[in-house]
Amino acid sequence: MKNRRVLVTGASSGIGAATARTLHQAGARVAAGARRTDRLTGDLRLSLDVTDEVSVRAAVDAVVTEFGGLDLVVNAAGIMPLGPVLGADVTDWRRCLDTNVLGLMLVTHAALPHLARAAGQGGTADIVNIASVGGRETFPGSSAYNASKWAVVGFSEALRKEISPAGVRVSLVEPGFTDTELPASITDDTIRASIEDLVAGQKNLDSDEVAAAIAYITGQPAHVLINQLQVRPVSQL
Ligand code: NDP
Repeated sequence: MKNRRVLVTGASSGIGAATARTLHQAGARVAAGARRTDRLTGDLRLSLDVTDEVSVRAAVDAVVTEFGGLDLVVNAAGIMPLGPVLGADVTDWRRCLDTNVLGLMLVTHAALPHLARAAGQGGTADIVNIASVGGRETFPGSSAYNASKWAVVGFSEALRKEISPAGVRVSLVEPGFTDTELPASITDDTIRASIEDLVAGQKNLDSDEVAAAIAYITGQPAHVLINQLQVRPVSQL
């Protein structure tokens, strides 16, 4: 990990923040991006809205200028506006897909030339996309979130086939319930309260445990690719 040049999105809380911390402690140079810049730590703190293409390009350019390149991107920015399809506020669907899917794709698009260059120069290059158990399984009340995470899986798996020959590794991390601020992104008060009750009543993962999975994947020798790693609390069926 020493001297690797890293961009973590969604680094102002939860899994992204833990990943930025973990990779920094392991010796990487870490650029942390999110909208709430006051909560960021790392070598470079970037105002980043992944739904805004201009913001995404500016953030990637800033990393490359500051670090002289980019070898590792962790796409952790995400929201989870749960709710039933019947009567849904479709602006929640747009925000969910804009952030979780298009945002992740825009960051990947902006970063990919730099990652390919790093791999071409003999370095190790990674994209780690945070999907979810909800990217393999479905739950009632989770249709838009499930759609977004299944899309992340599909995008990542197709991209892997395209870009592996250039030496860029594409990995999926699929966490189960993890104690973070994610339930705060649920706009429906009743559903948010029921999810908060659910997660409070069980032993969930800690963000650092998901970050450890990301460090494990990205710490492999350059020729070793871990396609996907699903990590969940033992109590989550
Ligand atoms: P948090 O709510 O703690 O963190 C979400 C992060 O995403 C924040 O840093 C937030 O920063 C950022 N973010 C949201 N919207 C944007 C945006 N438009 N532009 C840039 N950053 C944005 O949640 P988690 O850490 O739990 O979530 C991280 C990822 O893990 C998500 O993709 C989530 O779907 C996934 N996940 C989480 C699970 C869990 O149980 N917690 C389980 C499975 C997957 P800011 O608001 O400052 O911009």
